[in-house]
Amino acid sequence: MKIMVSACLAGENCKYNGGNNCSEKVLRLMDANKVLTVCPEQMGGLPTPRIPAEIREGVVTAKDGRIVDTQFRAGAAKCLEIAKREQPDLIVLQSRSPSCGVKQRYDGTFTGTLVNGAGVTAQLLMDNGFRCVDVEDLVEVHYGVLIRKLCTEEAGLLKDFLYEAIFIPEGVEPPPRDIVERPELRVYYEYFGRGAADHCLVAEADGHVVGAVWTRIMKDYGHVDDETPSFAISLIPEYRGKGIGTRLMLNMLKLLKEQGFKQASLAVQKENYAVQMYKNVGFEIADENDEEFIMLCTL
Ligand code: SF4
Repeated sequence: MKIMVSACLAGENCKYNGGNNCSEKVLRLMDANKVLTVCPEQMGGLPTPRIPAEIREGVVTAKDGRIVDTQFRAGAAKCLEIAKREQPDLIVLQSRSPSCGVKQRYDGTFTGTLVNGAGVTAQLLMDNGFRCVDVEDLVEVHYGVLIRKLCTEEAGLLKDFLYEAIFIPEGVEPPPRDIVERPELRVYYEYFGRGAADHCLVAEADGHVVGAVWTRIMKDYGHVDDETPSFAISLIPEYRGKGIGTRLMLNMLKLLKEQGFKQASLAVQKENYAVQMYKNVGFEIADENDEEFIMLCTL
């Protein structure tokens, strides 16, 4: 997998204060993948060290009042050129930077106040279709498999993974793909991201998203009450049985616990091979009907 990363995350001393943001996870990524490093602010001609800057009303402005927008945008354009030439599978960027931040950045008042929105390089790369992720959204790097939060522009993947999650017993014809449009299945993905329990982690390997686990409080088959998020999980067939599902589940349980949830639930067909994996990560059978177990995990 080819990955482009903010150079400061790889330990290069290119940060405004002459230091770096060296990240253990990024170093692990560098072991198993081809990694390209870029520092858009240096590439735009700014020195290191330099006066910190923030985006104020759309214009990148240094703390001393100088406008440095031209340099920031020149650096962003150079990164885009490299990305177009090298075609990275994924771009991992330093969170909250006025250049590299993906989801958030500082508001331009130099008071530590955050606003939603990307830095100029991250925005340009995303506008050109590159998948960008904040380093803080990298959850785990595990033997060539990267587990991370879903990027905003990937929400459409949930439909594909929901289809893969449908358990098809041996010898049974798979249902048509548009089965996921049925109202009882739309609850798994419609308006995803709006609820407090809407979380999704994906596993990425060989340059592709190969699995996803997601939770929300929804009236699905695993619903127990309005405080308990239900799980959905799915892996594309070639990546099953490699421990990726377990890593996704464990990381999601940890995330839900950090968010203050007390328990999580799921429904699983009794003959699904995944029942044992759910038990291994802490789920217990709480109820059952003819076909399914309802399982609960105390967090
Ligand atoms: S511009 Fe990006 S790569 Fe360079 S120091 Fe800032 S966050 Fe790091």
